[in-house]
Amino acid sequence: MKIRVGHLYPDYLNIYADRGNMAVLSRRASWRGHELEVEAISIGDELRPGAHDLLYVGGGQDREQALVAVDLAARAEAVRESAAGGAAVLAVCGGYQLLGRSYRERDGAELPGIGLFPLDTVAGERRMIGDVLLDCDWAGRTLAGFENHAGRTRLDEGALPLGRVVHGFGNDGESGFEGCRVGRAIGTYLHGPLLPRNPWLADWLLAQALAHATGGEPPELEPLADELEMEAHQVAAARARARGGRF
Ligand code: GLN
Repeated sequence: MKIRVGHLYPDYLNIYADRGNMAVLSRRASWRGHELEVEAISIGDELRPGAHDLLYVGGGQDREQALVAVDLAARAEAVRESAAGGAAVLAVCGGYQLLGRSYRERDGAELPGIGLFPLDTVAGERRMIGDVLLDCDWAGRTLAGFENHAGRTRLDEGALPLGRVVHGFGNDGESGFEGCRVGRAIGTYLHGPLLPRNPWLADWLLAQALAHATGGEPPELEPLADELEMEAHQVAAARARARGGRF
């Protein structure tokens, strides 16, 4: 099966090897006989609603976010329509913030978001940096990654987080939650990149994308020999236990 991916602003939003998430999705798809067809969509490029089974956007410093925010806001409808149509979405850190309603930078400048996620972000004085471990009870799994953000993200009442913070800061260093989930759309502060050390989430995203591509239910993907990935997960989880969530 061909899985059509729209990679938003790969030339602006790509820190902490966020691009590595694409490599993992591509390899895990090909190991199951599927092919990832990745279209880079940057400033001024066309984004057709529903044209992709998965949309991906990485993280970036305030400067890069400011460079893409107006262009992204101009296609808010297309992204929201794609997600409402069942496309999977993975948004990391700076990209996650811009898929919310707004990001206010430390100097007070307000960057528009597209309102896919029911949340707002305001940059604080001290950056929240370190290893993170999450408990994702909706999947019965844990996620391990790395965070580095000034933004404090507030989810609306009733909004679903990606996970409960076991170690780390998460959305705002106070709520005890990290990330946000809306249907097949996932937003998170976790870099690393995220997917090499959390193969279950990569497979969950692939299954959602395949459901969009076929118009059917998310398929059960053939299990892979993930010893190395699970070892990487354990190492990252141990680091989070040792030092996550401390300024
Ligand atoms: N610039 C944003 C912040 O500092 C996002 C940073 C990132 O993507 N790592 O919060």
